[in-house]
Amino acid sequence: MNLNTIVEVKRPHSVEQLDWREGHAWLAGGTWLFSEPQVAVDTLVDLEALGWPALVASPAGLEIAATCKIAELHAFRGPPDWQAVPLFGRCIDAFLMSFKIWNAATVGGNLCMSLPAGAMISLTAALEGVCTLWPRSGQPRQMPVVDFVTGNHQNVLQPGELLRSIHLPASALRKRFAMRQVSLTHLGRSAALIVATVGDDGADFLLTISAATPRPVHLRFARTPSATELQRTIDAHLPADAWFQDVHGSGAYKRHVTHYLADQIRAELS
Ligand SMILES: Cc1cc2nc3c(=O)[nH]c(=O)nc-3n(C[C@H](O)[C@H](O)[C@H](O)COP(=O)(O)OP(=O)(O)OC[C@H]3O[C@@H](n4cnc5c(N)ncnc54)[C@H](O)[C@@H]3O)c2cc1C
Repeated sequence: MNLNTIVEVKRPHSVEQLDWREGHAWLAGGTWLFSEPQVAVDTLVDLEALGWPALVASPAGLEIAATCKIAELHAFRGPPDWQAVPLFGRCIDAFLMSFKIWNAATVGGNLCMSLPAGAMISLTAALEGVCTLWPRSGQPRQMPVVDFVTGNHQNVLQPGELLRSIHLPASALRKRFAMRQVSLTHLGRSAALIVATVGDDGADFLLTISAATPRPVHLRFARTPSATELQRTIDAHLPADAWFQDVHGSGAYKRHVTHYLADQIRAELS
């Protein structure tokens, strides 16, 4: 859609000298920004010219630039001991999108949208990702993905603050994983996207519940839990009003499928 309130598009090579004010918006892939009127925005600041490398792998893990395209992440192949890399494709496939969105949308844009069905939020939360944020003034700050999203379309970003990158630690990438996703309608938005990761020795079982809740939820166990322990822990952390209710499913439905899928995952990883 044409955004008829926009009077300027800036393409800076660095954000240090940028004079941010109300009315500015960061432009990543534009798949959401150009999908509806942005009446409060008069200036777009395009992140592409910043030239951040999309993916940098090192012994410490994988640095994903906020501007990394979904298609670039899908093509990534890690070292053989990063057993969790196939989860990238599994989560990307859960993302309801057309060919155009696939090639334009960015990982950072998906996190910053902070929708419950944000598949890149599910992925990076499940792999214990840590965001690097660049405030407009002050030092960069770090924040786990699971704390970055605070609710439906809500996150910790302050006005003008930029999501620079997401770091996935090698320790999480080396874990085994199991994932389940369900939508109420064929090719509909996720009603629940559940992932668990566990070490090869059965230690450090981490369940990530997303899409069924307004923000991702981590439930960590020292070892793979029993079915009863898993059920009780989910109920203890997520009371009846903690589930995300929308046209893609009632709270009760999302609670039900979360229990069902989490137990399948537990059995698969046991
Ligand atoms: C048909 C359709 C289907 C969609 N389906 C889904 C879906 O299933 N799940 C889902 O989560 N989303 C969905 N979306 C919304 C959106 O397309 C995606 O969330 C996409 O990943 C956004 O990425 P982008 O790079 O295009 O972001 P943009 O549209 O460029 O930006 C999105 C928002 O994030 C801000 N932003 C972007 N990058 C940064 C950054 N690095 N730092 C700070 N702020 C930033 C922008 O200012 C803007 O407010 C859909 C959209 C459409 C049109």
